Amino acid sequence: MSLPHTTPSVGELKALAAGRWFDILIAAGIDADMLNGRGHPCPKCGGRDRFAAFPNINGRGAVHCRHCFTRGCDPSPGDGIASLQWILGLDFRATLGWLADWLGVKNENDRSRPRPIARRTVPSNRIVNTEPPKSSIDFDDLAKQFFCEMSRERREGLAKRLSVHPRTLVRLRVGYSEQDQATTWPMVDSGGRCIGLRMRGHDNNKWSYRGGRGGLFVPDGIATSINRLFICEGPTDAAALLSIGLPAIGRPSCQGAMPATVNFVRRIGCHDVAIVADHDEAGQNGATRLARLLVTVANTVRIITPGNPGDDARKFVAGGGTPGHFDELLAEADALMLAIRRSVPNPKRNADRN
Ligand SMILES: [Zn+2]
Repeated sequence: MSLPHTTPSVGELKALAAGRWFDILIAAGIDADMLNGRGHPCPKCGGRDRFAAFPNINGRGAVHCRHCFTRGCDPSPGDGIASLQWILGLDFRATLGWLADWLGVKNENDRSRPRPIARRTVPSNRIVNTEPPKSSIDFDDLAKQFFCEMSRERREGLAKRLSVHPRTLVRLRVGYSEQDQATTWPMVDSGGRCIGLRMRGHDNNKWSYRGGRGGLFVPDGIATSINRLFICEGPTDAAALLSIGLPAIGRPSCQGAMPATVNFVRRIGCHDVAIVADHDEAGQNGATRLARLLVTVANTVRIITPGNPGDDARKFVAGGGTPGHFDELLAEADALMLAIRRSVPNPKRNADRN
């Protein structure tokens, strides 16, 4: 495998990743408590105790599953890159790109090259799409085109219907597709590259633009210097929080884009994050799972659930919710011990014990 000289070599990536594999594998979607060297259900194929980390997990990053990731499999277990390739479901090259991105050593030339685009067009609960490449749509370009197709009247009408400020729709680059009769909501990866579009039809049904992957809804002007970031379910909740001046991004669903969220928070260096969850069980479970991943990159992670059961954050804001109310919810989260402060288990100790 030869890579352009501008991209770090496999050896260089491995050297940079050594000693950080614990965090890297968590960012890729493996729960921290599954990396203690004992048997656990496999994050990909289930079971009871078929998955385990090899010794020196933080140094080497090797894991295995007796059923779906063992000798004879492609890739076969042995090091952290193989582990990533397996859990992310990416090919070798794309895995190196993901790792370089996580390590912050991905070069800009590499970023601009087309990456495999998934065939799936419906939202998926799975974190990573394993579908083979199909076509290379330039989603950045498409998002811009649709953004230009959105007339001012249409934007103001949409903002009114959603009870959000029209300016937030501009910040989120919301557009309109005449052909699809739908508004378009660009989704980006953790590095800000557009990888797909959420479409919202007139009857409020939602789908992904063909070939697009699920990513994050990130407004323009989220600075790397913000003190606190609110992470919402979906773009319209994010738009609602932005409308009252709170820095917010959206996830595609309560379970979606977790690695991208973690990488985004890491990239902007925000150490106080609040997950804005819906009241339902899926929303609460997804928020808890995300919180456990986010403590690897942020010092304070809190889960808040605005409004009454059945409401979402947008309804809460539309009903008069203010930044002060969000402060109160954060204080309540502290009181209820829903804040998780950074306490990453010592992977070395865990590995040594086994
Ligand atoms: Zn398995």
